[in-house]
Amino acid sequence: MSDNRIVVLASNNKGKLREFGAMFEPLHIEIRPQADYGIPEAEETGLTFVENAILKARNACEHSGLPAMADDSGIEVDALQGAPGIYSARYAGPECNDDANNEKLVAALRHVPPAERTARYRAVLVYLRHPADPAPLIAEGTWEGLIIDEARGENGFGYDPYFLLPERGITSAELPPEEKNQLSHRAKALRILLEKIRERDGE
Ligand code: IMP
Repeated sequence: MSDNRIVVLASNNKGKLREFGAMFEPLHIEIRPQADYGIPEAEETGLTFVENAILKARNACEHSGLPAMADDSGIEVDALQGAPGIYSARYAGPECNDDANNEKLVAALRHVPPAERTARYRAVLVYLRHPADPAPLIAEGTWEGLIIDEARGENGFGYDPYFLLPERGITSAELPPEEKNQLSHRAKALRILLEKIRERDGE
């Protein structure tokens, strides 16, 4: 990374772009959303977060000629055997939005007692130097919580208003954004990824 500090971020998700933008601000790496290069979305045909993150990062490298980072993330609910998992963004259908996804999730857990609604966010980040990079750097972070029935909080995105942090008694949508960006699955994965980049490529 040392001779080229622009990294393309292979995502069009506004919530993720906002969070990554804030997390990268203090670093000496310029992160540019793939939309800046007119890059079309990759088809997420993988069956795991890591496969999808590689597909997205490779697609961004191919179209930009630059190194790329991709995040594939989602929420895994234990009472639903890990669903929606990699399908979190399209849980309620391909054209759906956060509200429809949340509604479907709350309905699916209607008969599950509060203590059994354990869930976690998972983020897998992949960094590729070029499309044929044979050694992707991969980092993963998780964040534990419980799914509640009523939305709480205005911050964050996606499932955040329904994701209760038991040790805090608030949802991740009630957390100030600066705190979410320290505690989240994405923040944890990014810290690990940056360390791996530093170790391999120097800084
Ligand atoms: P992806 O863009 O295919 O990785 O899908 C990620 C999806 O997982 C998002 O659209 C959200 O539904 C969910 N998700 C991932 N991270 C978060 C988060 O930090 N808060 C809320 N929802 C998230």
